[in-house]
Amino acid sequence: MSSNCVFCKILNQEIPATIIAQNDTVFVIKDIHPQAPLHYLIIPKKHVADLTHIQPKDRDCVADILFMAQQLSQTLPNARQFKLIANNGPAVGQSVLHLHFHFLSGIKSNSFSV
Ligand code: AMP
Ligand code: ZN
Repeated sequence: MSSNCVFCKILNQEIPATIIAQNDTVFVIKDIHPQAPLHYLIIPKKHVADLTHIQPKDRDCVADILFMAQQLSQTLPNARQFKLIANNGPAVGQSVLHLHFHFLSGIKSNSFSV
């Protein structure tokens, strides 16, 4: 938990958001400014700034992110094909400094970006 982090605050129920899926290590919310018909954020429960900060002990959590993406693609309508994007660092567009993967899908998703 990082006290000034929007995703930690959501997990801690200090900021409202609907968690649409979760397991022991990751949770999923709808992006507040969707860039695609389906735009979800897959977020580790542990506060890690970005992929440059993960450690070998985070291996299972990172794998869980990918399996959560697979689960979303199998359960959400029109999500069989999807994009998974992580911005790592403000210089490439990261605005929330808690690791997260954008899950983008829906019809004609080839032009989606975040
Ligand atoms: P990034 O710019 O890659 O760090 O992505 C951060 C994402 O978090 C953006 O797409 C924002 O729209 C989204 N976001 C920020 N605050 C919230 C919030 N309170 N609930 C849901 N999504 C949020
Ligand atoms: Zn955080």
